[in-house]
Amino acid sequence: MLTRTEGIVLKSQKYGEADLIVTYLTSDRGIINAFAKSPRKTKSRFGSSLEPLTHAKISLWGKEQSLPKITQADIISSFHPIRENYNDFVNISKLAEILISLMPAGIPNSRLFSFFLNILNTVKESEEESNDALHLITRIRLLAAIGYAPRLKGCGRCGKESLDFYPDSGTTLCNKCAVTPETAGKPFMRINNKVIHFYMHSIEWPINISHRLKPSHQTLTELSGVLDKHLTYLLSSKLRSSGFTAGANRPRVRASH
Ligand SMILES: [Zn+2]
Repeated sequence: MLTRTEGIVLKSQKYGEADLIVTYLTSDRGIINAFAKSPRKTKSRFGSSLEPLTHAKISLWGKEQSLPKITQADIISSFHPIRENYNDFVNISKLAEILISLMPAGIPNSRLFSFFLNILNTVKESEEESNDALHLITRIRLLAAIGYAPRLKGCGRCGKESLDFYPDSGTTLCNKCAVTPETAGKPFMRINNKVIHFYMHSIEWPINISHRLKPSHQTLTELSGVLDKHLTYLLSSKLRSSGFTAGANRPRVRASH
């Protein structure tokens, strides 16, 4: 069966001697894996269409469940400038990793596709010297878009004001709610109102005007720390629950949710 769709390459990994397994975020099939036969033999157009972050029209042969083969890929946008900028590439790769780790494969989500494409275009077109704020905002917004953003405004159980963020719970908790058996003694981080303020704007403002947000260096550092802790907890608990142990080169299989 031949399928045509649009995809953004989230990851490309070697498979055997000369082949590749490519993980795509597609416009109508969610995250899928596909197989590319010997694209590394030559510096071909086909080979460059499989570079990370490339947006392309793709044709696939075979069933989605059994690793379809990529028969054709026509580049719509290569996003080459992002790959050329070390800091941009590292940060966007982190977003790709978040998607691959947290989103079950094969669940169509056209809004997520448009959203991720919008992030890539915004970063590509950004003329800021340093994109640190933009990268933090995109990370927050991606987490919000897939339902994994931490809650930083008000206690996650009763809504009362609180500045103590509990990474294990993914939320701020007030004194009263933090003493339940499952939370007591767990590590927390004290945040401040400026961090919360910037965080809420990051989520609410359209991404193309988010460069107007000018957080202080300290706010940026503190919020980065909170997100890092949150992500470390999310990704490690996801890894534990998936039972995914052997072989980083093994293609991801459809998760049963
Ligand atoms: Zn509470």
